[in-house]
Amino acid sequence: MADVKTITLLGATGSIGASTIDLIERNPDLYRVEAVTASSNVAALAKIARKLGAKFAAIADPARYAELKEALAGTDIAAAAGEGALVEAAQRPAGWVMAAITGAASLKPTLAAAARGAVIGLANKECLVCAGALFMRAAERAGATVLPVDSEHNAIFQSLAAGRRGDVRRIVLTASGGPFRTWPLALMRSATVEQALQHPNWSMGRKITIDSATMMNKGLELIEAFHLFGLPPERIDVLVHPQSIVHGMVEYRDGSLIAQLGPPDMRVPIAHCLAWPERIDGATAGLDLASVANLTFEAPDPVRFPALRLARSVLEAGSGGATVLNAANEIAVEAFLSRRLGFAGIAALVEKTLEETARRGGMREPVSADDALSVDHVSRSLAVELLPQIAAKAS
Ligand code: NAD
Ligand code: MG
Repeated sequence: MADVKTITLLGATGSIGASTIDLIERNPDLYRVEAVTASSNVAALAKIARKLGAKFAAIADPARYAELKEALAGTDIAAAAGEGALVEAAQRPAGWVMAAITGAASLKPTLAAAARGAVIGLANKECLVCAGALFMRAAERAGATVLPVDSEHNAIFQSLAAGRRGDVRRIVLTASGGPFRTWPLALMRSATVEQALQHPNWSMGRKITIDSATMMNKGLELIEAFHLFGLPPERIDVLVHPQSIVHGMVEYRDGSLIAQLGPPDMRVPIAHCLAWPERIDGATAGLDLASVANLTFEAPDPVRFPALRLARSVLEAGSGGATVLNAANEIAVEAFLSRRLGFAGIAALVEKTLEETARRGGMREPVSADDALSVDHVSRSLAVELLPQIAAKAS
C-alpha cells in the first residue's frame, strides 16, 4: 500500500487544476490536499477547497479576502489573499506541489515550493521561460524534484528512462500545429479569436490555446526543454504531428528513437507525475491505435509560424531574451483576446519588443526572481507602448 501523498495545487481552478482534481478524486486513499490557490474566482476556489478538504485556500486578488473568508465560513479551512498568500500556500508542508498558475505570476510561488525541496509537478512553462536558469539552480540547491507535466516534456522524461543521458543524440517535441496548421498565410492574418480558440485536439486554458495557434507554445516549450533536460538548442527538435498521439521522443546514439504515446488528455502526464516513481490507474481508456489509424509528421513552417523562430533565436542568443519574449507574448495574447491586436500582430509585437529591448541595451539574464520579474515588468510596459503601432501595421 503506497503512502498518502500530501498535495498542494497552485492554480486549482484552471484546466490543469481540474484534471489533477479528477485524478485525486479517483484515488482518494492516495492523496490528501494541503492548499489550493486561484486568481480571482472565489466561489470556484471555495468549492474546491471544501470538496477536497484542503487546510488552506489562497486567492491572488487581495480585494477578495472577505469574500473568501465568508465562502469558507463553518469550515476549518484557513483563508488568505494576495501574492504573499500564494507563496504561503507553496510553503506549506505538502511533499508534492502542482505548479499550474498561468504566466510569470507562477514564478514566486513555484520558487517557494522549490526552495523547500518539494516534488514539483511543473505544468507552468512560463516560469522556466522567464527564469529557467535560476529556477533550476534553486531547485537543485534545495534538492527539489522537478517533474515535467507538459505532455511533450513528460514524454521525453519517460523516454529518457530507456538509456543514459550521455547516449542521447537529440530530443524531439511534437506539436499539433494548432487550428491554422494548413491555413494559408493571408487567411491566418485575419483569423478571429473564436477560430484561434478552436484547438483541434486539446482542451486547455485560453492563453495556452492561443499560444498553440501561433505555435509560440512550442517556442516556449523549446526553452522549457532546454532548462529541464540541459541539452543545447540544436539538439532539441520540433516536429509537427497533427494527431497529438506521439508526445515526445528521444533519439539515442545507436539510432533508436524512443517515444511515449497516449491519448491527448493531460490526465495521462499528470497521473504519471502524481504517482511518480510509481504508477496509478489512468483516468482514460487505453489508446486504440487501430482507430487512430494514421500517425503523420511534418516539419514546422517557419514562415507562417514566426513565433517558433523567435523563441529559437532567443534561446540560441542566450542573453536573457526569453524573459522579454515571454512578457511580450503575454501582453500580445491578452491584446489579441480582447480584440486590440490581429493574429499576425502577436508574433510581430513580440519581435518588436525584443528588437527594441536589444536596441536600448536592456537584454540581460535575470539573477534573481525579483530581477526576472523586473525584466518582465519593463518588457510588458514596452510591449504595451509598442502595441498601437504594431496593431495598426498588422491590421
Ligand atoms: P487556466 O487558465 O485554465 O488556469 C490557470 C490557473 O492559474 C487558474 O487556477 C487561475 O486562477 C490561476 N491564475 C491565473 N493567473 C493568475 C495570477 N495572475 N495569479 C494567481 N493565479 C493565477 O490555465 P491551464 O490551461 O490550466 O494552464 C496552466 C499552466 O499549465 C500554464 O502555464 C500552461 O502553459 C500550462 N500547461 C497547460 C496545459 C493544458 O493542457 N491546459 C498543458 C501543458 C501546460
Ligand atoms: Mg505541451
